[in-house]
Amino acid sequence: MIAGTAALYASYPSRSVDGGFTPSLVATANAQPAFEVPSSTKARERDAYYPNSEDLRPDEMRVIACGSGMPTTRAAQAAACFLVELGNGDKFLFDIGSGSAERISSLQIPYNYLDKVFIGHLHTDHFGALHDLFIGGALMGRNVPLRVWGPSGATPELGTAYALDHMNKMLTWDLAGRAGYTDFRGYRMDVTEFDFKLVNEVVYQENGVTIRTFPAIHAIDGSVSYALEWNGLKFVFSSDTYPNKWFIEYARDADLAIHECFIAVPDLVRKMKFTPESALLVGTQVHTAPEAFGKVMSAVKPRMAVAYHFFNDFDTSPAVFERIRRTYDGPLSLANDFMVWNVTKEDIRVRMAVVDDHTWAPPLGAPPQPPSLQDRKDFAARAGLDASKVGFGEFTKQGFWDVDDVLRPIYQEASEAVGREFKYPGD
Ligand SMILES: [Zn+2]
Ligand SMILES: [Zn+2]
Repeated sequence: MIAGTAALYASYPSRSVDGGFTPSLVATANAQPAFEVPSSTKARERDAYYPNSEDLRPDEMRVIACGSGMPTTRAAQAAACFLVELGNGDKFLFDIGSGSAERISSLQIPYNYLDKVFIGHLHTDHFGALHDLFIGGALMGRNVPLRVWGPSGATPELGTAYALDHMNKMLTWDLAGRAGYTDFRGYRMDVTEFDFKLVNEVVYQENGVTIRTFPAIHAIDGSVSYALEWNGLKFVFSSDTYPNKWFIEYARDADLAIHECFIAVPDLVRKMKFTPESALLVGTQVHTAPEAFGKVMSAVKPRMAVAYHFFNDFDTSPAVFERIRRTYDGPLSLANDFMVWNVTKEDIRVRMAVVDDHTWAPPLGAPPQPPSLQDRKDFAARAGLDASKVGFGEFTKQGFWDVDDVLRPIYQEASEAVGREFKYPGD
């Protein structure tokens, strides 16, 4: 019998003569469950998560997969990103892989609440959407700095601080080209780099939430995993790793344990066009093979094991599932984008979220400020730029074509609608 089968039947009311489960398929009057006629007009509970339609209980943790895929991009699955929401109001992002910022935006969460990101390692499928969250999040209302944590590497150039310092340098034109046009307070990043060799040490402790890091083994030195503990609940995220002793030790007793699980080797050859040589290396040595994932979870024994980092298709997930089941028979989720886990001490409910694609900015977390040209001067000083060069020079200025006659009325229209005067630029 598959583990937990009886629980699956729990919602079917059993009314046998002795009050217990009746294995017989022969129906008797007493064995029939009470039948309730569904209303044809009233709303009723649905088996999906609709963002912003449910309160989070004070003792509840909700985890949403905003990316569950692979380093190769696809429309159906973004790369690694898991959002943890806690009943105390705190939210955390673990990894922010390519494509995940769109998933995050679909949840319509005020961006001030999405200001804490923990990066497991610096492969783009784990932090490739950071600049999208940084820039797009500020444009959609984050007016506090983005806080980012990540590991050191074997040398300073291989660490998080180096990568994000250079990301900020890469964004010099982007930021210079926004300063003075919008509320600029959110365009700052606070980076905390910690030693990748820390073993189960605290890297974050605020508001009753403790986040610890421990080493992972992936690609080269400088990969880590995280454990978040709050209110007697424990969430663990491996990022990428080969099975390792630290995960076995520090993920133990997790309520939700998320560990990478790569696609089965034959499918790496068939679907990814790898040679058998590289499929064997990548699928078993660089990453965690499904059979090895199962062995890890059999040792960790979480309340719910989550496998991610494979394309979860109808023709490839059966191989992943069957291979995991060779070594693990406990509770298991094969992650897909927008899978949702509601975790309490009594229950772990797994559903899919149904989201809007055509979303705009969510509600603002704090009142916005109008733009100020001082922001441009401040940014120039911060970036070491000549402030007189941040703007338009004479060459560009002489190219403006005069459409003032159609733009001035827009200012008048806004002034009348809002009830105060917006001065036309240059007046
Ligand atoms: Zn990686
Ligand atoms: Zn990866």
